[in-house]
Amino acid sequence: MNQKERLQQIQDEIHEAAKRSGRRGSDVTLVAVSKTFPIEDVLSFAKLGQVDFGENKIQEFVQKTKDYVAFSGAPAIRWHVIGHLQRNKAKELLGKTHLFHALDSVRLAETLHAQLNERKQSLRCLVQVNVSGEESKFGLQPNELDSFVDQISAFPTIKIGGLMTLAAPTENLETVRPQFALLRSLSESVRDRLDFTITPELSMGMSSDFEVAIEEGATIVRVGSSLFGERA
Ligand SMILES: *Cc1c(COP(=O)(O)O)cnc(C)c1O
Repeated sequence: MNQKERLQQIQDEIHEAAKRSGRRGSDVTLVAVSKTFPIEDVLSFAKLGQVDFGENKIQEFVQKTKDYVAFSGAPAIRWHVIGHLQRNKAKELLGKTHLFHALDSVRLAETLHAQLNERKQSLRCLVQVNVSGEESKFGLQPNELDSFVDQISAFPTIKIGGLMTLAAPTENLETVRPQFALLRSLSESVRDRLDFTITPELSMGMSSDFEVAIEEGATIVRVGSSLFGERA
């Protein structure tokens, strides 16, 4: 399949999964995860109408945002930072990020807030939660979430829009379903705590499991290899 056919197939699968959860395909945002792939691939997907792109490493993100604006006449796109951010790299995000998916510590929020405040900017963030219990994963433990959200309210430039997670890699998709369901139920308690009037975003699901994630309520899926091809 070429890029156009792959994009169409993913969009069709998103649409079908959304229908199974009583929603529409347009209720789910597809973030195309371009990590390790050249900026030319980003441009060609953008020309096919793809709007949202994600990177997990800050250096690659900085380089790609720079390279992309150098294309003249390229379609407008939105960049998502989806991976762990070290505090000393926090400033690299500012002004270039549509949504930061991996807020995972109060100290990071504090650092971001200081820099945002100086620039009179704000940043939409999702809180990363470790729902799989794997020690190798970043993210808060589910039982830390309520007090985390309370502490973040001291930093008004940080706009919490919802939650993000990565499920445990598995061959059996039914083992990830409860992990996604857990994130959704956590988001409901965050919504109540923050007095959200809108539904919080749930960024969950990747190439191997985005359909299950959508069935369980994902509003954002992050798909890399199914769109761009296998990573080296
Ligand atoms: C790489 C990555 C993805 C996409 O993974 P694929 O399996 O290639 O779809 C999603 N989320 C995060 C945080 C990633 O780092």
